[in-house]
Amino acid sequence: MFDRIAKFYNLFSSDIGIDLGTANTLVYVRGQGIVINEPSVVAVNQKTGRVVAVGSQAKLMLGRTPSHISAVRPLVDGVISDFEVTEEMMAYLMSKALHGSRKFFGPRVIVGVPSGITNVETRAVRDAAKNAGAREVHIIEEPMAAALGVKLPVLDPVGSMVVDMGGGTTDIAVISLGGIVQSKNLKVAGDRLNSDIISYIRSQFKILIGEKTAESVKIAIGSVLPSTDTAESIIKGRDLITGLPREVIITDADVREAVYPSVDMVVESVKEVLEITPPEIISDVMHRGIFMVGGGALLRGFPEMLMESVKIPVHVAPDPLTAVARGAGVVLEDFETYQDILIQNDEE
Ligand code: ADP
Ligand code: MG
Repeated sequence: MFDRIAKFYNLFSSDIGIDLGTANTLVYVRGQGIVINEPSVVAVNQKTGRVVAVGSQAKLMLGRTPSHISAVRPLVDGVISDFEVTEEMMAYLMSKALHGSRKFFGPRVIVGVPSGITNVETRAVRDAAKNAGAREVHIIEEPMAAALGVKLPVLDPVGSMVVDMGGGTTDIAVISLGGIVQSKNLKVAGDRLNSDIISYIRSQFKILIGEKTAESVKIAIGSVLPSTDTAESIIKGRDLITGLPREVIITDADVREAVYPSVDMVVESVKEVLEITPPEIISDVMHRGIFMVGGGALLRGFPEMLMESVKIPVHVAPDPLTAVARGAGVVLEDFETYQDILIQNDEE
């Protein structure tokens, strides 16, 4: 009976999963997969209050806008800092995702949030999705979604560990029996590494560079472990003394030194979580390894360094940037099986 209701319902509603990341927002549509993968940036015309661009188009404008346009990242440290803009962004992406497949009911929406965010913050996400047109909003903790996306046996009595290093936050979580057993969320992730690089270059080379330049350097030559061949990158910035443009060459060793303290904080936090995890689960994690997701998993040498520090195998999940969205998709495709792992709705 229930099956028939579910099938009937499926015909009339398109359901979507949203990974509302500080750096990237992904949208999964049930039956289709990931249809949107865009930077979480919105450009707003301050004179008219209208949204001028969303996603990659808006990201191009970051740091390059005239006074009446502002390009903003509405999420900071994993939580909504600009409510209205977040809502606009969600509405835009939802309608883009559902384009052409508008159905009778509004969509059921599952949104991923960092572990340990407050009720007020969860409420803000819920409201933003509702106002953006969702009929039903469910919240999933991102490490749980990531674990599902990586196909870890989250419902089983087996411990799984996930480290999700994104733009604003790193989520570290140990999962068993459909719940989060231990977790830690720290505001040290990709954005922090970018600002580490900016500060380092300012103090070592007396040059001011922008955030996007720092990010490209990190991605191009960033690494956590020394290697035999040096990688270099030419960067352009403003000389702090003359005020004029200047170029310098920086190496992977510079980047390593710049980001080391932040990377170490993440490693220490993983250790802290392990220290308070029950022994049976530790034994599972030692056996199965730690799974890394998020853009930070791609930082060269990071998985190896973590493995070396905690003495547990570390695996980089395949396609680490899409794990959370794929995990939200797993729930949408089989809602009955997975609904209990969602954060319970506080208004029901
Ligand atoms: P969020 O979930 O917060 O939106 P993501 O998981 O999408 O974050 O990861 C984005 C972060 O990953 C950014 O800070 C980006 O600079 C970083 N990143 C992406 N690719 C790489 C790479 N190859 N090396 C290091 N960092 C990377
Ligand atoms: Mg993320």
